[in-house]
Amino acid sequence: MEDLRHRWNRTRELIEAACRRSGRDPRDVRVVAVTKYVDADAIREVLDVGLTDIGESRVQEAVPKWKALDGRGTWHFIGHLQRNKVKDVVTRFTYIHSLDRYPLAEEINRRARQVDRIMRCFIQVNVSGEQSKFGLPPSEVVEFAREVAELPYIRIEGLMTMAPRSDNSEEIRPIFRRLREIRDEIRRLGDPKLQVPHLSMGMSQDYTVAVEEGATWLRLGSVLVGGSR
Ligand SMILES: *Cc1c(COP(=O)(O)O)cnc(C)c1O
Repeated sequence: MEDLRHRWNRTRELIEAACRRSGRDPRDVRVVAVTKYVDADAIREVLDVGLTDIGESRVQEAVPKWKALDGRGTWHFIGHLQRNKVKDVVTRFTYIHSLDRYPLAEEINRRARQVDRIMRCFIQVNVSGEQSKFGLPPSEVVEFAREVAELPYIRIEGLMTMAPRSDNSEEIRPIFRRLREIRDEIRRLGDPKLQVPHLSMGMSQDYTVAVEEGATWLRLGSVLVGGSR
């Protein structure tokens, strides 16, 4: 617990420093604590140090943890989502960071309607173009956002991306910058139905760069809770 508190304080300092470098307000940068590496007891500690947002990437592993915690916290689904798992997600999670295809959007909308909840979704964008990554190509984002905006039980929260694995922040920076530019291009269209205000980007390896490039949600796992798989 002390170790976790120390890690969180240190992380927060680095986020604040990145905000100062880039003239941003630290209150505009929020953190999802990614707990996919750890068990429910460790998630309880995460919540006890004051983090409120929990990120999980696999439904089968997340559901037992959610039950053990009685749904405490605000849950973010950050992994690739299959349609047959959507019903388990909409009843427990507030956010989905990985909306990347229309049939998935339709299923989220359908299941969310059944439980009368509005799901907050990020459109996942494959900015880097890596074959291994999920997400829409940048050129398809606007059209996709228009279609999803018609679904009443989905609220588009913003855009999400993952940078390539790299130690070189100057390889990563253009990826984050491009996501921000896509958001700004959509904003300039001036369509009130097309709002993608938030940027979910930045993980343990690259979150300070993401803050400098405008991230409003960081997804932080190993830097907070340790471990990797
Ligand atoms: C695992 C994961 C993270 C957190 O990764 P860390 O490098 O441990 O911070 C963030 N986003 C997604 C989509 C993930 O799968």
